[in-house]
Amino acid sequence: MAGDKKAVIVVDMLNDFITGALGFDRGREAVEPIGKLLTAARSHGIDVIYTNDAHLPGIDKELELWGDHALAGTEGAQVIPELAPQEGDYVIPKRRYSGFFQTGLHLLLEELGVGTIILTGVHTHMCVRHTASDAFNWGYRIEVPREATNAFTEENYLAGLKELKDVYGAVITSVDEIIAGLAL
Ligand code: ZN
Repeated sequence: MAGDKKAVIVVDMLNDFITGALGFDRGREAVEPIGKLLTAARSHGIDVIYTNDAHLPGIDKELELWGDHALAGTEGAQVIPELAPQEGDYVIPKRRYSGFFQTGLHLLLEELGVGTIILTGVHTHMCVRHTASDAFNWGYRIEVPREATNAFTEENYLAGLKELKDVYGAVITSVDEIIAGLAL
């Protein structure tokens, strides 16, 4: 596996997750830090990859647990306007929590020469965590800027961060620290 490059992965920063069907205040707190990170990443030639829920109604099991959200092709499944993908970014639709499950994410990362993923988005203990799990299994290094992810509750958020660190070896850091590293 894997080259030396880093890429930023933005998980599920979609209308339905932030302002829509499953919208939550804590999610909105991650918007500005992610925006700052994406601007810096793009200016340093770091690839930006969105992994976005695009569920099939009546089929995807997650919908039984959470109700309909981020249905493929709907407004709710679009990235929020503040973080809209830009030219040169990559968008990977997914139908499960993990951005890797039955998607082209691993192939894309290999082709881009990426060995370290900077994981951002929601929810820390669900889609971010499951994406980290698969990333770990494929051998990627993981960095998580703590203010660029969030979850429904403080408890979910802290438990998510702890698991990312303890189980998947993620380096828990900050947007500013990551940006300082990109400038080196
Ligand atoms: Zn979902």
